[in-house]
Amino acid sequence: MRSATVPIAVADSVLPADHRPARCLQLVLGDQLNRRHSWFSRVDPDTVTIFQEVRQETDYVRHHAQKVIAVFAAMRAFARELAAAGHRVHYLSLDDPLNTQHLTDNLDALADASGASALRYQLPDEWRLDLQLSRWAASHHLTVTTHDSEHFLTARDVVSRHFADRRQWLMESFYRQMRQRTGVLMALDGGPEGGQWNYDHDNRESWRGDPPLPELRLPSHDNRALWLMIREAGVDCFGDPQAETMPWPLDRDEALVMLDDFIRNGLPHFGRFQDAMTRQDWRLFHSLLSFALNVKMLAPGEVIAAAEAAWRRGEVSLPTAEGFIRQILGWREYMRGFYWARMPELAEANALGNDLPLPDWFWTGNTRMACLAHAIGQSLSQAYAHHIQRLMVIGNFALLAGLAPAAVHRWYLGVYIDAFEWVELPNTLGMSQFADGGVLATKPYVSAAAYIDRMGDYCKGCAYDRKQRLGPKACPFNALYWDFHLRHESRLRRNPRIGMVYRNIDRMPDAERTAIREQAVFWRSRLDQL
Ligand SMILES: Cc1cc2nc3c(=O)[nH]c(=O)nc-3n(C[C@H](O)[C@H](O)[C@H](O)COP(=O)(O)OP(=O)(O)OC[C@H]3O[C@@H](n4cnc5c(N)ncnc54)[C@H](O)[C@@H]3O)c2cc1C
Ligand code: SF4
Repeated sequence: MRSATVPIAVADSVLPADHRPARCLQLVLGDQLNRRHSWFSRVDPDTVTIFQEVRQETDYVRHHAQKVIAVFAAMRAFARELAAAGHRVHYLSLDDPLNTQHLTDNLDALADASGASALRYQLPDEWRLDLQLSRWAASHHLTVTTHDSEHFLTARDVVSRHFADRRQWLMESFYRQMRQRTGVLMALDGGPEGGQWNYDHDNRESWRGDPPLPELRLPSHDNRALWLMIREAGVDCFGDPQAETMPWPLDRDEALVMLDDFIRNGLPHFGRFQDAMTRQDWRLFHSLLSFALNVKMLAPGEVIAAAEAAWRRGEVSLPTAEGFIRQILGWREYMRGFYWARMPELAEANALGNDLPLPDWFWTGNTRMACLAHAIGQSLSQAYAHHIQRLMVIGNFALLAGLAPAAVHRWYLGVYIDAFEWVELPNTLGMSQFADGGVLATKPYVSAAAYIDRMGDYCKGCAYDRKQRLGPKACPFNALYWDFHLRHESRLRRNPRIGMVYRNIDRMPDAERTAIREQAVFWRSRLDQL
């Protein structure tokens, strides 16, 4: 893959402001960098495309430095690309003296300065921005119209309509409907290719060094000047900025190279090792495409098509292709629909009443628990962790320990390069923290040390003993796991999917149950020291 494809002078510089009169303004948000949007299919000299770097967006949560740098750098690259194609562009940088640092105040000012009579914007994916823009539009004298972002495969309300008269929401049912609707991995007889809809059971291996990992080929950008500007503006970031070699794609061409590289080198093993974890590498066989997808450089349809084509060419197995496609055609669209169906209540959900603050080591990775030290350390250095690290290490611990879901949500929303609320919130509060009371996940995603040990190499060399439940050397996951089920027995015992856990609890002597509870109370009162 190319390195430093966008030299510093180009990536960090900002276009000259366009203050000439215009008839129409069109707003592009930082996660709407869709080169193929119909807005850009022809040049209109009366229309100015507006980009804004604003403190409102850097500050709504504390962000990883790479996320702020990558979004701004990608916005700048896209703005330059549009200008080079002849479009009029007004780019408001964070340090522009005319920047009010507030999205709609800037729109007011730009509307006045340009004399425009119309403004259009693409529907935002975040509830917060949707509300802000729709309220602003309702009270403004401009003619304001909204447009589809032309990115997703489904409308916002498709999931809620699909489940309108059903008590239980199951992603699998939505996913099958999506397969039928799109024809993806469908056979000529109208059934699923291979006769099976879902090959999840084939996709649960740990990785022990074989096959070798594909070479990690990422873009590399020198964004030091941009990072300096962000710091000088006083934005409070955390994590390793990697500003000198920023490894995320900043334009569609780079994202396409990453997609191609993944299909050739990562996808063939993606399925088998989808749930594997290792200290040896931070990517394994995952695609690292979520940033490019979520800022809309890539369309979900083209990523799915590339994976399906690799299977039809015989380069990858059906379980692998299906496992990967399900993440995008199923989970990604489903999460978005779930978000729109459940907001704004979802953001406040806390069905289990969890209220502990995050331990300090969420911000440093300095814990003696090897799995968490690695998964959090990697999140801080790369702004990335793969799904099982997010779900079964960090999220698992947060839920077992009883951390406040809103604080966990803010951490996830800030730390990951791909974190945008429409996808982060349902994953964190619904799938990971069971905060919605079990609508999205039919049972809590929790485990004791045995699962983490089985799926990775973290436990070897950990300061804690994965086999012990009690005592100062015992793995904290163990006592916390049983205590979690004891604490939430009234809600969880009736759940048939976790009947086995309660059968085990029922067989425990009272003294053991008491000792587990005491051990868990001990850990939960000293989370900072784990
Ligand atoms: C607690 C928690 C928080 C998460 N927060 C985010 C987030 O903020 N943004 C985000 O994009 N994903 C999030 N995910 C889902 C998933 O972990 C990431 O999409 C994935 O790790 C991104 O890495 P990748 O591109 O290498 O994915 P791969 O493993 O290569 O998967 C391919 C693609 O499938 C999609 N995908 C996979 N799983 C999911 C899922 N559960 N929901 C939606 N899309 C999915 C993504 O677009 C991803 O790029 C979260 C998961 C959990 C458990
Ligand atoms: S022993 Fe426990 S804390 Fe240590 S790595 Fe294994 S699961 Fe994590």
